[in-house]
Amino acid sequence: MLAFIVDRGWQEPLSSWEDSLRPINVFGTVALICAAVFALGGWALGRMAASGLVMVLGACAVLSSAVAAASAPLWAAGTVLAAVLAAAEARSSSRQLTAIMQLAARLKDGTKVRVGPNALAAERRVLRRGRRFAITLLAVSIALWGLLWLEWSGAASQAPPSDARAFVPGAAPFAGGTTVLAVVSTIRVVWRWWAHRQMRGTVWAVPCPGGPVWVHPIPLRNAVINASDSENPECFCEAEADRRDAEGLAEWGDGMIPAQDYCPVHGIDVVNSLDHDAFRALAASRRAWLWDIDSTRPVLSGDPRSGTRDGLLAFAGHAFGGIPLLDRGGVMDAWGPRTETADERRTADGEIPHEAESDFLPPHQSGVLDVVDLAPAEMRGTAVRYRHGRAWYVP
Ligand SMILES: [Zn+2]
Repeated sequence: MLAFIVDRGWQEPLSSWEDSLRPINVFGTVALICAAVFALGGWALGRMAASGLVMVLGACAVLSSAVAAASAPLWAAGTVLAAVLAAAEARSSSRQLTAIMQLAARLKDGTKVRVGPNALAAERRVLRRGRRFAITLLAVSIALWGLLWLEWSGAASQAPPSDARAFVPGAAPFAGGTTVLAVVSTIRVVWRWWAHRQMRGTVWAVPCPGGPVWVHPIPLRNAVINASDSENPECFCEAEADRRDAEGLAEWGDGMIPAQDYCPVHGIDVVNSLDHDAFRALAASRRAWLWDIDSTRPVLSGDPRSGTRDGLLAFAGHAFGGIPLLDRGGVMDAWGPRTETADERRTADGEIPHEAESDFLPPHQSGVLDVVDLAPAEMRGTAVRYRHGRAWYVP
């Protein structure tokens, strides 16, 4: 529908330089370019697409009726339709929040939970990031309009060019779109702030797989050892990592050190010389150095990293998905200060992405040493060992 309206075009081809400098035509150019960009990329705004559409079509409707263009009624009809869609979206969002608040009030049993510092830091970080993005977009759009005004006043003060082409400001393709994005982001940030404000201080006990949200898996590093594992006098992983990259260790974080391929304690030959029982025992104790850096790891039933989370802080529907919490000895905390909010699951999403589904294909079969069945250690799937690499997990 939008493309249909856009294709009509309401502006007469500009015949003269003077004509193209009139405000109605300068703003018209900006609005038309913006509408065309929106027709191509507006879907990316998701839930906010209708609000963006109201702004774009509304601007076109006002400008086209100002010049009494034939297509003015079409733009106006489009604006009304977009406004209806935006109102429906706003209504459904506010209904969702009301339903969540009512559910929270009904389920509250007065239990007090201690929330750890990582969760609070992650919550602040998510809210702050949205604010910063919206403010940046607002600043950029103000700058673009300033640039457009400079170009415009510059063009108005100079003599018309000899080839008699029309004036099109260089900032025109960006000014309108950035303004729409800035306003949409601001609305989104305000709504998120409001929804979060209603639910802050509430910890939900939510089954994440199969529940209303899905949680981004905790990033697991493979081919690493814990700093405490490097205390074995034969292990040279830490010394080697230090030698190769004196400052790089901090990047690994959380006391992790990359396992060296030839370490007599954590090397590839050690992985491959383990008998199957020893391999399974180490896999069950979640030794990251067994596995190739691109492989996934088997999931143990009852493992807090398996996708089952113990709680969600401040879940408020799609506006704020809540910070996933783990029970850490009486304190509910996020796994780290950079934990992302959980995502709302929609019925259209179908299967939930799962940690055990690898994005990577294992290496070529020719290097396979053997296959270790993980079932005896209560893990699903097998480990495939390679002559010149660490093991791959095959669910
Ligand atoms: Zn080592």
